[in-house]
Amino acid sequence: MSNDKNNTAAANAPSSNFLRAIVESDIASGNYRRDGLPPVITRFPPEPNGYLHIGHAKSICVNFGLARDYNGVCHLRFDDTNPAKEEQEYVDTIIDTVKWLGFSWEQNGTSHLYYASDYFEQLYQMAEYLITAGYAYVDSQSAEDMAKNRGNFGTPGTNSAFRSRPADESLALFRDMRAGNYKDGEHILRAKISEDAMASPNMNMRDPAIYRIRHAHHHRTGDAWCIYPMYDYTHPISDALENITQSLCTLEFQDHRPFYDWLLATLTEGGFFKQPVPRQYEFSRLNLTYLVMSKRKLRQLVDDGIVSGWDDPRMPTLVGLRRRGYTPESIQLFCERIGVSKADGWIDMSTLEGSLRDDLDPKAPRATAVLRPLKLIIDNFPEGESIECTSPVHPHFPERGVRTFPITKHLWIEQDDFMEVPSKGYFRFFPPIGDAPGSRVRLRHGYVTECTGYDKDADGKVVAVHVKYFEDSKSGTEGSNTYKVKGNIHWVSAETALKAEVRLYDRLFTDPQPDGGGKDFLAALNPNALEVVTAYLEPGMSAAQPDQRFQFERHGYFVADRVDSVAGKPVFNRVTTLKDSWVK
Ligand code: ATP
Ligand code: MG
Repeated sequence: MSNDKNNTAAANAPSSNFLRAIVESDIASGNYRRDGLPPVITRFPPEPNGYLHIGHAKSICVNFGLARDYNGVCHLRFDDTNPAKEEQEYVDTIIDTVKWLGFSWEQNGTSHLYYASDYFEQLYQMAEYLITAGYAYVDSQSAEDMAKNRGNFGTPGTNSAFRSRPADESLALFRDMRAGNYKDGEHILRAKISEDAMASPNMNMRDPAIYRIRHAHHHRTGDAWCIYPMYDYTHPISDALENITQSLCTLEFQDHRPFYDWLLATLTEGGFFKQPVPRQYEFSRLNLTYLVMSKRKLRQLVDDGIVSGWDDPRMPTLVGLRRRGYTPESIQLFCERIGVSKADGWIDMSTLEGSLRDDLDPKAPRATAVLRPLKLIIDNFPEGESIECTSPVHPHFPERGVRTFPITKHLWIEQDDFMEVPSKGYFRFFPPIGDAPGSRVRLRHGYVTECTGYDKDADGKVVAVHVKYFEDSKSGTEGSNTYKVKGNIHWVSAETALKAEVRLYDRLFTDPQPDGGGKDFLAALNPNALEVVTAYLEPGMSAAQPDQRFQFERHGYFVADRVDSVAGKPVFNRVTTLKDSWVK
């Protein structure tokens, strides 16, 4: 785990954002000074085939963050070229999520929301040009032959017999492909980068496919097309059409960059684009411990019913983290802290949790919650009487005012605030033992009490604790601090408490790298990732609104669940504990 710490430290160094240096140098040199366009145009290009996760948040913060910091704009572009896997539902959630994270693709009244599918006609025309200019050909090999002839790393590929097909024949075939005269897989359009491209050490340069036949309904273009452009072909062209300056992506695209550059240079030569064209830069993906991030694995968790859905608060999806109680600010803070570099590594989950605590500590109002209740009876307190107690909404911001709640004869305290036989150094409630009196404990914001006894049920379980209180010890009253006690515990009045469902969430996996080294990630599921308790909360909590966050004193940060809370009856999720309980 020391490795994670080193990586985090390295990523935290200000110099680690090498992308800033690139943007600043491009601005300084005036490379991208173009009339009417901002100096920096980035883009976030999700494929609408699933829900965004915390890894995407890194890419979103990098792209939108650079645009924001250098007076630029960041486009939201749906990379929707694969009709089979894409759906409107995903488009909607992605738009919603990027907005929620606090970013906007609007500038001066223009909405920079784009769809690669809007470029289908232009992409097609450029492909015709490539064919005519001798840079692409229709290949009619079977899929098996094509795979076989591609060669391997270290083994050059073999030219297709169709590679020398005359351009006009390829063009006619390509037009017939568009017209729907062929079945899926019968033909494919491939780039011809150079005469010996099939021997390139870079597999991505070996006559990459740029168009394929797919008789499938597209969520935006319907049945207008039955040929679809490949990602590697679509992406650089979309970037260039949108005047992107720096095209930022994750490291696995490094080997795709030569094709990116070749394609834009070739199309510039063909008169489709002007210099300067966008340039691609790569940074490392985010890997977070105790999580899996691949869409396929997340889908499995949903489909197998291991979680309740994409927005289950244990999921690393942004809709899940949002429901869990994470704030957009805490996720932005996290992304700043991890920085951007080219070094692959694992970020410890505690970095994300720490960002949440640092964001919420000054913001979250305090409240009292008893999660594992045990009855406490103040025997000398008058039955039916109720005395008001007050406590600051936030201990460091007195200007936020106070909250009030009553103390009564019957209270709820935490089960572990009482021990029949106290262990060494235990300062909370314990009964008289021999000649020694019971412990004295302050009921926070209330009175000092002394334990006088306890009740057990037939099974020997402690069901109530008895105390007497000292009338002149009320917190905040004169002389109350003459009582010196070592224990100070929270409580709620049993007469007025709000009974509420509280969901205690924890990490979904017990293994820091659940799918590392090809392991079966399902074997590392944390059986205790969710515990539901019936808790008692201070009465004011009945007014909690969905998404409102609180610090429940001594317990951690909690949010009123945005899905299951109803007016007057909130359900709470634990976002995180007050301290990292996973440190070894
Ligand atoms: P997955 O591999 O989970 O299916 P993806 O990379 O295919 O994700 P896209 O919709 O293509 O998902 O991603 C949109 C953008 O988000 C891409 O630029 C991609 O590089 C970036 N991205 C995805 N995962 C991460 C990650 N873990 N860290 C940083 N950026 C990421
Ligand atoms: Mg992808």
